[in-house]
Order: sequence, then structure tokens, then C-alpha cells
Amino acid sequence: MEARVPHADVAAETAALLEQFGVDSRRFTRGSLTIRTPITGEIVAHVESAESMIAQQTIARAEAAFHVWRSLPAPRRGEFVRLLGEELRTAKAELAHLVTIEAGKITTEGLGEVQEMIDICDLAVGLSRQLHGLTIATERRGHRMMETWHPLGVAGVITSFNFPVAVWAWNAALALVCGNAVVWKPSEKTPLVALATQALVERAAGRFGDAPEGLCSLLVGGREIGEALVEDARVRLVSATGSTAMGRAVAPRLARRFARSILELGGNNAAIVCASAPLDLTGRAIAFAAMGTAGQRCTSLRRLIVHEDVHDELLTRLRRAYASVSVGDPRDASTLIGPLIDESAYAAMRAALDDARGAGGAVFGGERLLAEKYPDAFYVRPALVDMPDQAEVVRRETFAPILYVMKFRSLDEAIRLNNDVAHGLASSIFTARLDEAERFMAADGSDCGIANVNIGPSGAEIGGAFGGEKDTGGGREAGSDCWKSYMRRATNTINYSGELPLAQGVKFDLEA
Ligand code: NAD
Repeated sequence: MEARVPHADVAAETAALLEQFGVDSRRFTRGSLTIRTPITGEIVAHVESAESMIAQQTIARAEAAFHVWRSLPAPRRGEFVRLLGEELRTAKAELAHLVTIEAGKITTEGLGEVQEMIDICDLAVGLSRQLHGLTIATERRGHRMMETWHPLGVAGVITSFNFPVAVWAWNAALALVCGNAVVWKPSEKTPLVALATQALVERAAGRFGDAPEGLCSLLVGGREIGEALVEDARVRLVSATGSTAMGRAVAPRLARRFARSILELGGNNAAIVCASAPLDLTGRAIAFAAMGTAGQRCTSLRRLIVHEDVHDELLTRLRRAYASVSVGDPRDASTLIGPLIDESAYAAMRAALDDARGAGGAVFGGERLLAEKYPDAFYVRPALVDMPDQAEVVRRETFAPILYVMKFRSLDEAIRLNNDVAHGLASSIFTARLDEAERFMAADGSDCGIANVNIGPSGAEIGGAFGGEKDTGGGREAGSDCWKSYMRRATNTINYSGELPLAQGVKFDLEA
């Protein structure tokens, strides 16, 4: 692929892209929210933050839309999502490029993010003809028992900066075919891709014809707008993706009003490398999982637990890869590592590396790069840290490309290290031995929502259920049976016997 040259004016490029999507220029040229691209650190847009009154009105419109939408046959609702998938296919390159500008992802990862949106639309369209319940044997003659799945209501979707549009699509595509209305609060760091996505939603709605107004809406703003969704009794489900601190704030408020929640929070993901692991494959998998997306995936590999027999050789290989990986403008085809999202991410990385040194770690890499060319952007060489043990700094999530490496002797010890952190999102084992792979996936193995063999912890496909345990929040999104989270279940018992036998043999003989 050719590099795009020159890259001079990101702001002009951003404006041209948004106009191409049909976003009114007033939506990105005025307002109190200043949007910078992490590529150069320059300001590319100003966006208006929604006020609380607008949030209330948006939720009210969504609720009215839900009352219409829930009665449309599910395959008809699927048609709307099919059209959305078509719009995404058509605009894939442009939307991906906006992801690159706003979140700093390299080109193939920006494209991958939009592909994920397309994939979940396809999955949801199929699901729209398969929202099935069970028929259950009853103990009473002449009776039938079954389950029916119904739409839930308004679904609020709060998303993080690092998957600025894919996470919305995971939720929205399923929520819509399940008969719900959706209100989206994107990260305040990435509202532009949300505005572009909303323009595609509106195009799909126009082609669909009778989508109720307010079915799928966008509320740009900070935490206070997220809080408005969390507090509003009309929002029956809140799916919130972001830090564990955000989840801790949101979860009790949702629980207080018995709202449904899907929490997709932080991760501190590990990989175990056994003595039998194929080191070529293992090294390549680790390089992508730990350095890809500049370590800013919730599933990024942060802890490497290596058998002492292969520790030195693997570390030598990794040092070579870390020294040679290309860091720079994510729009260049040769770049593998783009910028950190902002200065606070860089500060957190430096603080973690200082703590690691204090705990006896030997740090390789981690220095700031390209500071002269881009004084307002934050590029770093990914860091590899050889640690004597799993110190406190290793046990916390630092959202930056730092890989802590530790040694083990027995698999029991490795699994204990894997599980001995607060989070429980993704994990991997690299081994040629069946017994080790099976043990890792067994009940006394990895305690994470994702446990992979001979593949890194990041880069999930949408067919499986995605999410994790403990401080990761316990939510699951995307494939498998995750659609059930967006519906309410009714159990129906039907009596066609003409008599009235009571369950468990209870007698209640009374004429009425
Ligand atoms: P963040 O927690 O700062 O923000 C996430 C979203 O929550 C934003 O839209 C923000 O405005 C909103 N928010 C923050 N506080 C809130 C509150 N009290 N009430 C309502 N909304 C609130 O996270 P971030 O920096 O954007 O993203 C990085 C974090 O997200 C990392 O910890 C990463 O591991 C996690 N993440 C998890 C997953 C997953 O699927 N498990 C996916 C992506 C990112």
C-alpha cells in the first residue's frame, strides 16, 4: 500500500471527510469540546457538548421510538441493520481514516475496526430470524411451557476512545434487531467518528423508510452525559465500556434502580509461554498483542510469564523486535505503532516505568520518540520490562505499550501468576503440549473470559462472546448468545386441558 503524502493539514482533511459523510459543518466547528488528533496533537475540530435538557429530550424520543420499533417483526428490524452494514461497507475506507485521525490507529487497524462493525451487522441480520426461546416439558397434563424473548426498552451505550466505533456497533446492531432503541454516548476524545457513524445511520434510516424518529441517536459529551443515561429510569439497559474506575461509578447507580448493565472494563492480560512453545509463532503473536494499537487495547498483552528454560532466548528475540518496530505517523503504510492518545497516557506510562524500575525491573525501550517533529503528540518506543516478580505495578492496568516479563518453573505457578491480578479479561498459553493447553482452559486454569491457545489475547472475532470477569465487569458482548442481554424473557404456561391441576400437586378446592 502507498503511504499517503503529504500529511500536512490534518484539520482540513478531517473537515473534508466529515463533509463527505454529510455532517453539518456547524457540528464540528463550534462548541466547547476541543478535539485534537493524537497524530500531531493539533486541534482538528470543536464540538458542542449536549446539555442535560437535550439528553432528556433524546431519551424521551428514544422511548417513543421503542414503542413503535418493538412491534415490527424482527426480520424487518434486521433489514435496517442490513442497510447499515451496506453503508458501512461503502464508507469503510473513509470511516477507517477518521478512526486513524482521531484515535491514532494505523491504517489496517482502522480498517479492521470498521470491518468489525460490518461483521456484527451481518451477524445481527442473521440473528433477526433466530431470536428463539425454548419449549419446556411441564409436569401437568394438557399444558405447554415456553419462553418468549421480548424487546427491553431504551439501551444506553457508553464507549471508550480506543474502539471509538466498533464497540457502539457491537451493541447497537444487536440491540436494534432485538427491538430496542439506542442512545450512544461516545468518548469525549472521539466524537468525530461518532458523528460520521451517525450520518451513516441516518442514511440507512432514510433508505429503510419507516424507522421511527429517535430510534438511534447520539449524545456527544463528557462523563455528565454518561451519568444522565445511567440515572434515567427510561434507559433499561446501559452497556458501558471503559476503565474499571468508570464501571465502579456506574454499576451501583444502575443496581440502585435495577437496570440491566453490560460492563466491559479494563484488563491486565497475560500470556504463559511454556518450554515447548513454538518460539517463532510465539514471538510474532506477542509482538502484535503487546505493541499493536500502541498497547491501547483492553486486551493488549501486558504480562508475559515465561518458562525459565526459554526465558533468555525469547527475551533476546523480543528485544530485537522492540528495537526495530516502526513507530510514527499511523497514516504511513510502513508504521506499525502509532501515537498514544494524549499526554496523560504518556505520563501514566512514564510513572509505571519509574515504579517498575523501583521494583527491580530492567526496562528496555519506553522512551519518547519524534518529540521534536511533533512536540504536542506522544509517540513512544514500546517498553519491555524484565521483572523479578509480579510487583504492584505489574498488577495494575497501565493503558500503554508496556510488557512485563516474569519467569516460572511449574505450570501451577504460571497459572497462579496469570490469575493473581484484579482483572479477568483475556489470557493465552503458548505450548505444544495438549495437557498444558487443556489445563489452562479447565476450571482450575485461567480465570479470564478469554483463554486462548497459541494465539495472543487480543484481536477477538465477533462470533464469540467477548468480555471478562472480576474487575473487568463480567459483561459479554457480540456473538454466541449475547443477544439475550438486550431482551427480556417471559415464561409462558399454556393450559389446554380444560382442567386446573396445580403444580407440585397442591390442592385448592374452592368453587369461584
Ligand atoms: P474511560 O473510563 O475514561 O471512559 C469511557 C467512557 O465512560 C467515556 O465515554 C466516558 O465519558 C464515560 N464515563 C466516564 N466516567 C463516567 C461516569 N461516572 N458515568 C458515566 N460515564 C462515564 O475509558 P477510556 O480511557 O476511554 O478507555 C480505556 C479503558 O477502557 C481501559 O481501561 C480499557 O481497558 C477499557 N476498555 C475495555 C474494553 C472491554 O471490552 N472490556 C474495551 C475497550 C476499552
